[in-house]
Amino acid sequence: METFTQYFCRCGKEKFDAVLFDIDGTLSSGGRPLPGAKEILTMLEKEKFPYVLLTNDSCNSHEEKAAILQRGDIPVFKERIYSCGDVLKLWKKDTNYQGELLFQCGKLGTPSYADLSGLRVTTNPAELPLCHGVIFGEGSYDWQPALEGIFNFFLARPDAPMVVVNPDSYWPSCTHSGMGIGSGAQARFVCAVLKDAGIIVEPLYIGKPYPFIYRGIMAELETLLGKKVLPERIAMVGDSLASDIKGANANGLCSCLVLSGITTPELAEKAAAESKPQMIFSAV
Ligand SMILES: [Mg+2]
Repeated sequence: METFTQYFCRCGKEKFDAVLFDIDGTLSSGGRPLPGAKEILTMLEKEKFPYVLLTNDSCNSHEEKAAILQRGDIPVFKERIYSCGDVLKLWKKDTNYQGELLFQCGKLGTPSYADLSGLRVTTNPAELPLCHGVIFGEGSYDWQPALEGIFNFFLARPDAPMVVVNPDSYWPSCTHSGMGIGSGAQARFVCAVLKDAGIIVEPLYIGKPYPFIYRGIMAELETLLGKKVLPERIAMVGDSLASDIKGANANGLCSCLVLSGITTPELAEKAAAESKPQMIFSAV
């Protein structure tokens, strides 16, 4: 089976205007580069071919994420990263935000994506009654006071916004060798308890595979390329059917699955129509 790099060298420049890469399971695994990752990033950089690393990691700022990847010998510049955290800017614009206080559980990078988006946040659960809505961040934090506070907040304010920056349920933990429970799962847990209490809250998810992040990256690419961008001329290369491939398909991008991460050939074969990759590669 061909790698994405082999395909790209054969016809990628004619077919695509830019390439989006997922990071974990696509370019890196356990902090180390996956086969071909260094080569394709170096090649695209040298040839000045537009590419962006599109990540659901909102726990690390661009600077932190680039530093983590560079420590793992993966040549990445912070300017090449676009995170679901960046999309908070779009949310702010869409909701006509007027500076209201928001409760943030967990982290959103240093510098914080919330600050960079001009959002006023508190991480103190005692201030929840003063808040207009809730943003789910990520990483290690004291879950009980935060989640119970959020539960009580929505019992009183069921129509308030619940924004979930990273919709993922789980991922390889950065603090131990197993899997970590993601912010998407934490939000769904709170929503399930609210449902038991007769309150229906629909979170707004903004990372992959939801449309918000694709609106954000398409606008970013148009700025980068200085022209109107056709989604079918953008390759989305990733290892997750549920996140990378489903999101690419739903937004008209060319979905390219790599089998270097969480998806086996059998799973790819059995994928539902909305998660079927247009192309499959052994690795980047
Ligand atoms: Mg991945």
